[in-house]
Amino acid sequence: MIPFLDLKKINNQYTKELEEAASRVINSGWYISGTEVGEFETEFAAYCGNKHCIGVSNGLDALKLILKGFEIGVGDEVIVPSNTYIASILAISEVGATPILVEPDIETYNIDHNLIETKITKDTKAILVVHLYGLIAEMKPILEIAKKYNLKVIEDAAQAHGAIYDGKRTGNLGDAAGFSFYPGKNLGALGDAGAITTNDDLLAEKLRSLRNYGSYKKYENVYKGYNHRLDEMQAALLRVKLPYLDVENDKRRKIANLYLENIRNKQIALPRLLVPQEQHVWHVFTVCTEKREEFQRFLLEHGIQTIIHYPIPPHKQIAYSEWNNINYPISEEIHRTIISLPISSVQTEEETFKIISVINSYR
Ligand SMILES: *Cc1c(COP(=O)(O)O)cnc(C)c1O
Repeated sequence: MIPFLDLKKINNQYTKELEEAASRVINSGWYISGTEVGEFETEFAAYCGNKHCIGVSNGLDALKLILKGFEIGVGDEVIVPSNTYIASILAISEVGATPILVEPDIETYNIDHNLIETKITKDTKAILVVHLYGLIAEMKPILEIAKKYNLKVIEDAAQAHGAIYDGKRTGNLGDAAGFSFYPGKNLGALGDAGAITTNDDLLAEKLRSLRNYGSYKKYENVYKGYNHRLDEMQAALLRVKLPYLDVENDKRRKIANLYLENIRNKQIALPRLLVPQEQHVWHVFTVCTEKREEFQRFLLEHGIQTIIHYPIPPHKQIAYSEWNNINYPISEEIHRTIISLPISSVQTEEETFKIISVINSYR
């Protein structure tokens, strides 16, 4: 069986270093808000090219804290792609603001920047850009629109650690960015973890307080804050894995290129990469097909596990019943036909060629 994702194999590449880091934390006797978090923040900020990194509990909390930090809440509107992973939208709901869904471009799966302006009102405060599946959204026109209407640009970079656009990495392409280090992400912790990056000094200072009960000084509270801290153990483990991120992303690119060059089947539509390689880190490799369930069953019968990102669009979720009768046809088409093939830093060339040959034999 070729698993969709083998987390054990991924982390076993670094067993010795991870164990050393874990014992360092255990033996330090200091488990929250210590040197490991501080060092990881410095290292991740340097990696992204940002002035500040604030380690937090997970990706959803990162996005929520950014919105809070910009004082976006009740009565405000935030533009977000209609086909994103639900967490981007939940963050907006959680602060009391209204998510305004904008359809994606069917070629890139990222927000269609041509549709953004029609959705802007006097209440619009920000555009939450998602670099879905690992491909950076078309930032240039988005930043121009944001400037014209004085909107914040917030990146949801949870699927695109390390991707580069115009010489800059994700995390450094807007006013602030939220990252997730959920174990299956391109940079994955061994538990829940996340981070915010920004070049905004005031925002960074405020976020450091908001993540820690709204306090700068122990037992003195400036804001009604949260407990959204990153812990020492996850920070120490992330410090082991960060130096390998670029190498791992390159391995993903290599597999993606093998898929793109060798999958030849009229029933299977491949993604098209129309931008430089460095803009995509292939968090997932998706293909589209009309009879998806049949295709998925065929692959499984041949020992290949696949996953669907995602089977139900946000506007069709029970949690958002207020949207259930609205149509977002492009999102619906994507959600109906998309399926993700295995891709990871530990997938062998032999496994990749087996997947290719099974797909090419599918009728
Ligand atoms: C994973 C993910 C998140 C949420 O991250 P968590 O750490 O699981 O909270 C947010 N947005 C996108 C696009 C994601 O893929």
